[in-house]
Amino acid sequence: MDLSGHCLCGAVGFRLSGWVSPVQACHAERCRRATGALFSPEVAASAEAFEWVGDTDLIASYEAPILHAPPAYRRNFCKICGSPLPVLLDGAGIVVLQAGVLDDSTALRVFRHAFVDQKSACTVIADTAPQYPLQPPPPEPDEILI
Ligand SMILES: [Zn+2]
Repeated sequence: MDLSGHCLCGAVGFRLSGWVSPVQACHAERCRRATGALFSPEVAASAEAFEWVGDTDLIASYEAPILHAPPAYRRNFCKICGSPLPVLLDGAGIVVLQAGVLDDSTALRVFRHAFVDQKSACTVIADTAPQYPLQPPPPEPDEILI
């Protein structure tokens, strides 16, 4: 699947041409703070076919203190506009990004909810996608979009 995305100001973008997962709605407190949203719409994709577009000097990173075990919780964002940008998971061959920065989200759907134990008090989950109290396992091959 060919997908592209970019930040709010357009200075930093990316292209994907490998496999892409559906959306994991993550309700973890850290993800809510990092996105400013009631849940984080996370898409995993193949890091092999990922490439940055634009001015990569404008990518800033933040690593939150490790809670349980490495790897650290890392966030990338545009230095100009603050949009969340994809994060490459070292050694996993996976890049994780926020669905809202994609140029075309037509094919996406929420396939599961993560960290439901930490969801906002005002969040009502109205769909029938599976709910995981904490971190779910990596997506199965049949859960990959393409
Ligand atoms: Zn920007």
